[in-house]
Amino acid sequence: MDIGKNISELKQNLPEGVRLVAVSKTKPNEDILAAYHVGQRIFGENKVQDLTRKYEELPKDIEWHFIGHPQRNKVKYIAPFISLIHGVDSIKLLKTIDKEGAKNKRVIKCLLQFHIAEEATKFGLSEPEAVGILTSREFAELNNVEVVGVMGMATYTDDENQIRKEFQTLKEIFTELKRNFFAESDSFCEISMGMSDDYPLAVDEGSTLIRVGSKIFGRRNY
Ligand SMILES: *Cc1c(COP(=O)(O)O)cnc(C)c1O
Repeated sequence: MDIGKNISELKQNLPEGVRLVAVSKTKPNEDILAAYHVGQRIFGENKVQDLTRKYEELPKDIEWHFIGHPQRNKVKYIAPFISLIHGVDSIKLLKTIDKEGAKNKRVIKCLLQFHIAEEATKFGLSEPEAVGILTSREFAELNNVEVVGVMGMATYTDDENQIRKEFQTLKEIFTELKRNFFAESDSFCEISMGMSDDYPLAVDEGSTLIRVGSKIFGRRNY
């Protein structure tokens, strides 16, 4: 695996305005540094413990993204430094992030995760559920968390039409929320969609943040 070459090739074909989150979960520091040395600065992890260790050991100008659902009792460990939390799907989690943000005198950016795939999973909001959160009194009281966009994962399938439709659904949800709740907010601008197997489709459909792991770092051995 030539990590540097993989990153450079991938970035060459990305349109302006689409940022790459290099998903480095399970990968060692040396792999992250190989990407860092060709200019990559955004990395994604989904385990709090790995993320805090890597944060401590690696260069401080790395922008760390949490790409899953942090357990609420572990948010405190990433709150001092996390740049973006991609997988938020409840008011409870938003309140925890807000509380930890306040302790660290920070406003922590988050994306609301939507369930757009056909597969049954316990994660991800429906649009009405998101509206319920955004119109709640509890949400209005949060000062140290900022919702800056949406995130979703398409069904794992070879059917390109289906994947495209799911990404289009996420884009439509983004547009609706923007119009109804964030029209005045320039920072509500992110659509996190697209992984190793489907990111070209996601980019076509309006992604602003792609989350790519195995295509850069090789397969993961869990
Ligand atoms: C692991 C993971 C990715 C990256 O997956 P690849 O298929 O290796 O690119 C992207 N997003 C989330 C939420 C993940 O958990």
